Amino acid sequence: MRTQVGIIGAGPAGLTLAMLLHRDGIDCVVLEARDRTYVENRVRAGLLEQNTVDLMRELGVGERLDREGLEHDGIYLRAYGRNHYIDLAGLTGRHITIYGQQEVIKDLTNALIEKVPIHFEAADVALHDIKSDNPRITYQHDSQAHELTCDAIAGCDGFHGVSRRTIENHITEYDYTYPFGWLGILAEAKPATDELIYAWNERGFALYTMRSQKISRLYLQVPADEDIANWPDDRIWAELGERLGEVNEGNIYEKGITPMRSYVAEPMQHGRLFLAGDSAHIVPPTGAKGLNLAVNDVRLLAPALTELIRGGRTDRADGYTAAALRRVWRAQDFSNYMTRMLHDLGAGPFQQQLQLARLDYIARSEAAAHSLAENYVGLPAEPDFQLPWPRSRTRRASTSSATACSPISSPTAGGVGATPG
Ligand SMILES: Cc1cc2nc3c(=O)[nH]c(=O)nc-3n(C[C@H](O)[C@H](O)[C@H](O)COP(=O)(O)OP(=O)(O)OC[C@H]3O[C@@H](n4cnc5c(N)ncnc54)[C@H](O)[C@@H]3O)c2cc1C
Repeated sequence: MRTQVGIIGAGPAGLTLAMLLHRDGIDCVVLEARDRTYVENRVRAGLLEQNTVDLMRELGVGERLDREGLEHDGIYLRAYGRNHYIDLAGLTGRHITIYGQQEVIKDLTNALIEKVPIHFEAADVALHDIKSDNPRITYQHDSQAHELTCDAIAGCDGFHGVSRRTIENHITEYDYTYPFGWLGILAEAKPATDELIYAWNERGFALYTMRSQKISRLYLQVPADEDIANWPDDRIWAELGERLGEVNEGNIYEKGITPMRSYVAEPMQHGRLFLAGDSAHIVPPTGAKGLNLAVNDVRLLAPALTELIRGGRTDRADGYTAAALRRVWRAQDFSNYMTRMLHDLGAGPFQQQLQLARLDYIARSEAAAHSLAENYVGLPAEPDFQLPWPRSRTRRASTSSATACSPISSPTAGGVGATPG
C-alpha cells in the first residue's frame, strides 16, 4: 500500500495533522494501536488554548466545542484561604476553554472517518528506511501483515510510542523529574467555583477544575511514588477541603495518580520521520500545555510536509524542529514556573517564602499578572518560521529533583502518557 504521509497515533496530534493534510489535498493513513472506543474515552487534558479552539473551528470541527465547551475568562490563585483573580481575558483579550480531550478526539474522528483511513488496533508497528525518500511502516491489522510506503512519516504516537525509539541514537534528550505527582479525580459534583482555582497550601498544591456544570475535576499534589490504595474517597474529599476550602462532593467515578515530568527530544525529525506532540515532549500538567503543544506542532508540520511532498522544497521541513521547539521551550519554562511556585517542593521555609513572594507580586503587579496570563492562554500562533536567533544544542542533559526520584531512562517507563488524567 502507498500513501503520502503515514501517521502513527490517533491522539490530538495525529488526528489534527490528518485533518490539515486532507484539507491540503495530501493523502494520509493513520495507524492507531488501541481500539476506537478506548481512544475516544481516554480521559486526559481538558483545557484548550484560544489557538487550539480557533484551529478546530477553522477545520470545521468546532460546532460541538462551541456548544458544550466552557469558555473561561480567568483563574484564581489561592493562598492562606484567599482567592486572587487573574483576569485572563481582560489582560490578554484571549480565553481558555474547558472541553475534554476525549471530546476533541471524538469530533476529529467523526470528521475524518469517511475521508482518511484510520486503522485502529494496528499492532507491531515498525518504521523502516526513514533516511530514504520512501520510508516504510510495517504493521499487523486484522491478523494480516501490512506494509505502507510513504513520502514521510509523522510520529504522533505519544510518549511511549515507537517513533522516538526508532531514532533514539540521533536525539538529545532533556529531562527533569519532579518528586511529586497529581492525584486526579472526576466526580459527579457541581463545581463550587466559577473559575479554576490553583491553590498554594502548606499541605501541598491542589487544583479545582471542571468538565461541565455537573462534573468536577480535582487534583491533589501527592508524593511521586504514592499508592492510590492509600486514598479512599473520604480521605480525598477531606484533603481537598483542607487545601481548597469549599468543595462540592459527589460520586468519584475515576481516580489515578500522574507523575510530573518535563521532557524534550531534539531534533524532532530525522530523515523523513517527523515527531509531533508527546512523542517529542511532555510537560507537567500545571501549565495545561500538553494537548495545545501537540496541536501547535502539527500546525507547523502540515505545511512543511505539503511543501516537501508537492514541491520538493525542504526549507520548512528542515526548520520544523526549531520552529516547534520555540513554543515547546516557552511552555516548558511556564509549566516549570507554575509548578515550582505552587507545589510543596520539600525545600523548607526559605523556598516557601519565595513562593509566597511570587504570588504576592502577581497579585499587586499588572505586569506580573499579564506575563502569567499571556503564557496561560498561549501566545498567538507564530505566523511563519522566522526565529530571532538560531537554536544551539547541548549534549544530553538529564536532571532530576533533589529528593529521591528516578530520572527518566526508558521511554517505556510508566508515566504521563500511560495515566488517565
Ligand atoms: C492528567 C493529565 C492532565 C492533562 N491536562 C492537560 C491540559 O489541561 N491541557 C493540555 O493541553 N494537556 C494536558 N495533558 C497532556 C495531554 O493529554 C497530552 O499532551 C496529549 O494527549 C498529547 O497528544 P498526542 O497526540 O501527542 O499524544 P497522545 O494523546 O498520547 O496520542 C498518541 C496516540 O498514539 C497511540 N500509539 C502509541 N503507541 C503506538 C504505536 N506503537 N502504534 C500506533 N499507535 C500508537 C496511542 O494509543 C495514542 O492514541 C494532560 C495529561 C494528563 C495525563
